[in-house]
Amino acid sequence: MTPATTPSTAHLGGAGLDLGTLNLMLEALGAFVAAELPEERVLELDHQDVCPEDTVRAMCSDALGVQLVFIPEAYGGLGGNAFDSYRVCERMAHVDIGLGTSVFATFLGSDPVLMGGTEEQRKEWLGRVAEQGVIFAYGATEPEAGSDLAAMTTVAVPVDGSATDPEQPASGSYRINGRKQWISNGSIADAYTVLAMAPGGPSWFLVERGTVGLSSAPPEDKHGIRLSNTAALFLDDVVVPAENLVGGVEGRGLTQAQQVFGYTRLMVAAFGLGGGWEAMDRAIRYSTERVQGGSPLSEKQGYTHKLIVPHVARLEAARAVVEETASRIDAGEGVGGALNTEGAIAKYLATEAGTAAADAAIQAHGGYGYTRPYLVEKIRRDVRITTIYEGTSEILEMTIARDRWQQHLKTRGAYYQDLAAQIRALHGARPCIGADTAALALDCLAGVLEACRAGRLTRNQHVLLRLGELIAYAEAAAALVRRADAAAGAGLPEKADRRFDAAGLAAVSRVFAREAATKVAEEGTRWVVGAADPGAARDLAAGLPLDATRAAQTGLIADMDAVADVLYARATTSPLKDRP
Ligand SMILES: Cc1cc2nc3c(=O)[nH]c(=O)nc-3n(C[C@H](O)[C@H](O)[C@H](O)COP(=O)(O)OP(=O)(O)OC[C@H]3O[C@@H](n4cnc5c(N)ncnc54)[C@H](O)[C@@H]3O)c2cc1C
Repeated sequence: MTPATTPSTAHLGGAGLDLGTLNLMLEALGAFVAAELPEERVLELDHQDVCPEDTVRAMCSDALGVQLVFIPEAYGGLGGNAFDSYRVCERMAHVDIGLGTSVFATFLGSDPVLMGGTEEQRKEWLGRVAEQGVIFAYGATEPEAGSDLAAMTTVAVPVDGSATDPEQPASGSYRINGRKQWISNGSIADAYTVLAMAPGGPSWFLVERGTVGLSSAPPEDKHGIRLSNTAALFLDDVVVPAENLVGGVEGRGLTQAQQVFGYTRLMVAAFGLGGGWEAMDRAIRYSTERVQGGSPLSEKQGYTHKLIVPHVARLEAARAVVEETASRIDAGEGVGGALNTEGAIAKYLATEAGTAAADAAIQAHGGYGYTRPYLVEKIRRDVRITTIYEGTSEILEMTIARDRWQQHLKTRGAYYQDLAAQIRALHGARPCIGADTAALALDCLAGVLEACRAGRLTRNQHVLLRLGELIAYAEAAAALVRRADAAAGAGLPEKADRRFDAAGLAAVSRVFAREAATKVAEEGTRWVVGAADPGAARDLAAGLPLDATRAAQTGLIADMDAVADVLYARATTSPLKDRP
């Protein structure tokens, strides 16, 4: 076996599928699932808490071949890139996030091989996923090691020979002992990648179903994604040949996992978008049919502007980060985990927005939303997992805040000032996309970070994590402005979602930019004042442009009206082009 001397990132990104092939896959996916799993069947499986293993296998076989999107052409796949994967994951989530999770688990499970495996391992294992539809599971989490994977206790002990020297290929075999928790496809997978502590450090091992000593617990009784199989794994004296050490070198496991977070978290972000939008689509449809007080709910501003419009704006802000990050990964910028912070922002915003949107969709359906047949309560239960797995929201807040805090310190505060200047420059050329307000959000952010530095306020973990949220909002406002600018000018990427036209995106961007500016200014002030010494609090908060952010709310209701008009395909009630 040839050891992989450096972890590979060569397989991330690239041109991906051509547009025709992507659209064919998206259509086939919708048609396949509609035929296999009509809504009544989905509800029944959810109620009975059953994973339709046959459907999962059919999706990953010649019948549909969705797994081929995630496998490079060199190993028998279609060679989809990050953008393709996002579009496919969002479409799967519209149908059922549990089913999507099963497919995603194969992608995640085979990922350590793709990223860190030897060429022989890639050919063998990825080839088996492509040709035989082998289902994978990804075994990282343990009962006592969730967010903190370094606390793992699963061990891999060389039986004879080991691979701690990177120049030396592994030889002999390993004996693995431990337990893994909450593993998607845990009791249906054909193959597992298991993270275990070897003498040289955390390492991935390939373990085949049926290996002596490997067993799984009965599936978990879960709140949501009940069509997905989740089970604990037991590894009792499981012996695997040294060829099954991923990459042939010990100690690279955590690096291999972290390297692809920018990419894998985009897929979960896509689940948040798909779940959130499916719930919104249902609420929008329902509100045109449900008449109360003499007119449809869709005509009531107090309904649309609370339960629909703000959620749509947050979903689309998250989408802007997802699409931008996917494009950058595909252009080769994601090497070595370079875009992990952007991936974290995308997942954090999309999954929180998806969860909030699904919750609002229950409210939008009234009592009917609280019952099973309307499906929004199921979507709400399903989408909830996306804020937990693949990095909880709190861990993502920490990831985002730590990285951007370093940028703020390194650039002596210029990081967000420069970004604000770039976004403000867009306002001159195109004053209708909310760029001035998004720039204000970034100005406020620079001010809040500086106040935190001056007062040494990030000693409080809560302040640090709240900064993570404010950073995500301000950066998303900037991404949405860039997207609205592209839609109105050079055009969106050819594979981009096209739910909104340029005028609609501009209105959505104006609404979200105002929310971001208010959030950063008002909540930023709250945490600065709340954490500072009483004497210093007023001084620290003094430099924040609170008056300007309040003034920027002018026109908000008219823009929310405009977004509602787009969503309900009505004649517009307010100008969608330039505004003063
Ligand atoms: C349905 C389902 C499917 C899953 N599938 C897989 C899978 O296929 N493979 C796999 O390996 N894992 C899987 N997981 C595990 C999932 O990734 C973990 O549940 C997740 O990483 C959180 O770990 P934990 O549950 O141990 O929670 P903990 O890490 O104990 O966290 C509990 C709470 O504390 C917060 N917290 C944790 N650390 C900190 C900190 N330092 N500061 C502040 N707050 C903190 C968290 O945000 C969370 O709110 C799955 C989980 C579920 C429920």
